[in-house]
Amino acid sequence: MRQPRKGYENRDFGVLNVSAEDLTIDASDEVKRRFLVACNGCSLIGRREKREYAVLIDSATGKTVKNSGLKKGTENTVSLTEWIPLLKQSRELTLSIIHNHPNGAPFSLGDIKEFLKYPSIKSMWLPSGKRLYYLEKQDDSVLAYDAILKKVQLAARNIGKTTDNKQNRIEVVHLIYKEVFKHGKIRYERW
Ligand SMILES: [Zn+2]
Repeated sequence: MRQPRKGYENRDFGVLNVSAEDLTIDASDEVKRRFLVACNGCSLIGRREKREYAVLIDSATGKTVKNSGLKKGTENTVSLTEWIPLLKQSRELTLSIIHNHPNGAPFSLGDIKEFLKYPSIKSMWLPSGKRLYYLEKQDDSVLAYDAILKKVQLAARNIGKTTDNKQNRIEVVHLIYKEVFKHGKIRYERW
């Protein structure tokens, strides 16, 4: 078994025991460090299987939320239904969700809906393919989430008309998110 990187706890998720060295994304050391802190030293969940996983994190401590567990999904979805009571009960901007997309896609409309719907969610990390996507509500975020969601939905409807090439589609979606979230004062990053 691989030794955990110094300073990081190597978290065993049962089916997965992925260490920091598996991080192959094209990101700076600073980004990698912050990502590793955010998930308490665990690394890119689900990278070894074509399956989605999700973890709920306390965004202040980087530790998994008590009794939240690791959610195991299918190749293109993972259900967060069991977390709804936790998402509703928790204080504003205290939680962080990490889930992966094995197919390299950016945040889905469903992901963004969840992110905007629950005030308790501060940030969302998405390792996808070799990329790492990130969303974070700023303290001064405009709380007009319905309006932001409508803009994203509208844009999503038009993407199909723009391109049917997968790589182009990913880029179009990325550019749309960049634009929409900038106006919503939501930090959106892709590394
Ligand atoms: Zn997703």
